[in-house]
Amino acid sequence: MSEEKEDKKEQAELPPSRKYENPERAIHTENGFQELGKSAGGHPITYKVLPGKKGRALLVGGVHGNETEGVAFMEGFVKEFCLDASSSPANCEIVVLPVLNPDGFLNYARQNANGVDLNRNMRTKDWQAEALEPKYYPGKAPDSEPETRALLKLIEMHPPDFIISFHSWKPMVNVNGPAHAFADVIAKKLNYIITEDIGYPTPGSLGTWAGWERSIPTITLEFERGIDLSNIYSFARNAILSSLELVHPAV
Ligand SMILES: [Zn+2]
Repeated sequence: MSEEKEDKKEQAELPPSRKYENPERAIHTENGFQELGKSAGGHPITYKVLPGKKGRALLVGGVHGNETEGVAFMEGFVKEFCLDASSSPANCEIVVLPVLNPDGFLNYARQNANGVDLNRNMRTKDWQAEALEPKYYPGKAPDSEPETRALLKLIEMHPPDFIISFHSWKPMVNVNGPAHAFADVIAKKLNYIITEDIGYPTPGSLGTWAGWERSIPTITLEFERGIDLSNIYSFARNAILSSLELVHPAV
């Protein structure tokens, strides 16, 4: 199957219950959100920093644009903590990046406007040009995509001590690097399994780049795909807040 057809197939399979009515609303440009850069398709990638006392966490949603469950969690978090009061709900500073891949999110597609899977585009030791399946197209080179470079810039400006990237697939807490203590808290509260291996190779992923290669504790949280978008935030809120209490600065 051609890449284009595969892309269309994924979009066609997204049922109405998994779609946002107004996806542009999840891409915040006001209330202190700043533009980090533009996507391949020219959409703003925005973030906000919630000041804290000790250590720093990075929360990322919408790496895969068709995984609306992860963006729905970020939306709930933004509504509760980033709009009016704008204070960290934990001891640590929190860097909030609701939608890394606005091109994909606005089009219900996994990849960005260049057809690149952003979770295969980072410059990891195992980066490879060949994709396991067309939907995992890693781009023409590592760091080729503006979204990847924007994320790297954000990590350089605000180096995190803990990262959670919100996705959806089979429910699991995927541990990347020294993140077991965080994973234990989240998995117990969500009643999800903990995995180190997602079941297939993910060269060029954020988990590999940050977690395994730089020892930044990183969780790739896979919400159960298809669960009610309106319940995801209340389902996972306390689990995530508890994990944030474990953040401490790297020594
Ligand atoms: Zn994903």
